[in-house]
Amino acid sequence: MDMHAVVIHEPGGPEVLHYESMPVPEPGIGEVRVRMRAAGLNHRDIWVRTGTSGPFTGPVIPGSDGAGEIDAAGPGVFGIETGKKVVILPGMSCGRCEACLSGQQPACLQYRIFDGTYAEYVVVPQQNVAPMPSGLTFTEAASIGIPFLTAEECLKRAQALPGQTLFLWGATGGLGVAILQLAKLRGVRVIAATRSAARADKLKQLHADDVLVWDGTRDVTGEVLNLTGQRGVDVVVDSLGQLTFAQSLAMARRGGVVVTVGGTTGTTMQCDLAQIFRRRLTILGAFMGQSGILPRLLPLFARGVLLPVIDHTYPLEQADQAHEQLQRGVFGKIVLEL
Ligand SMILES: [Zn+2]
Repeated sequence: MDMHAVVIHEPGGPEVLHYESMPVPEPGIGEVRVRMRAAGLNHRDIWVRTGTSGPFTGPVIPGSDGAGEIDAAGPGVFGIETGKKVVILPGMSCGRCEACLSGQQPACLQYRIFDGTYAEYVVVPQQNVAPMPSGLTFTEAASIGIPFLTAEECLKRAQALPGQTLFLWGATGGLGVAILQLAKLRGVRVIAATRSAARADKLKQLHADDVLVWDGTRDVTGEVLNLTGQRGVDVVVDSLGQLTFAQSLAMARRGGVVVTVGGTTGTTMQCDLAQIFRRRLTILGAFMGQSGILPRLLPLFARGVLLPVIDHTYPLEQADQAHEQLQRGVFGKIVLEL
């Protein structure tokens, strides 16, 4: 039996995403096969495509997030019925080491992120699927994964408290929209920054308290200090990196927390360490999150407490156009439908 999938044979631009036929994979011991119905795009997919997520080791099917139905199970799989609707859990680890056994899977030496959801069928270990929230479409369910996993990890580790203030760069992206919602759920005041005036209203609809439209030159730090009575914010979440991190350090309050969770503008920077030690800042790195986070958050989507935010959908064969749009900028998520 053959299936359709999007395959990258050599790194490059969106044109290297080839829509092809290939054999349907067979589930091995402890694995399940999922008939995918939707695949959510992440910036990671672009890095996989361009070969910047690690050394390029041969043909790869991109895509870490997705939703579909259980189609087949390998030997040793019990209690997962064929036809059950599931969400892919994209974090993969050994399951046996101290980090894994203490619930810190991203610290596992074998931790990696699953690639392969741009395909009609995927095979994953049975612990890498979770029940899909009721009342959601496959497209909505496919939009949740990495952004909400990472967002919750950021907020949990930053220990943002009710009444505190959080500054959020890149608020309109998939991760930004997730952080905004989870921060508001905690009773945190959110100052959100976006480069698009057209998207500022949408951030207000998601209950951002203040929205700063930022053109790359505007003195965001000064405005944040004005909005906080010159005190600075308790928590800054920075996924842009090189372009913004110095400002992130400057706008944090004394004793505040700056979370670095990505580098979409680059990952190299220079800073004055006195800025960190004299002002007693905590710098936290966040990457993916504990495996228990998504199973804990998914029911909140069924109850309408958290909202999937979809910017646009494309059929699988138009993955190249979907990538181009993601690189141009989005509000929420781009999802491929299969
Ligand atoms: Zn491990």
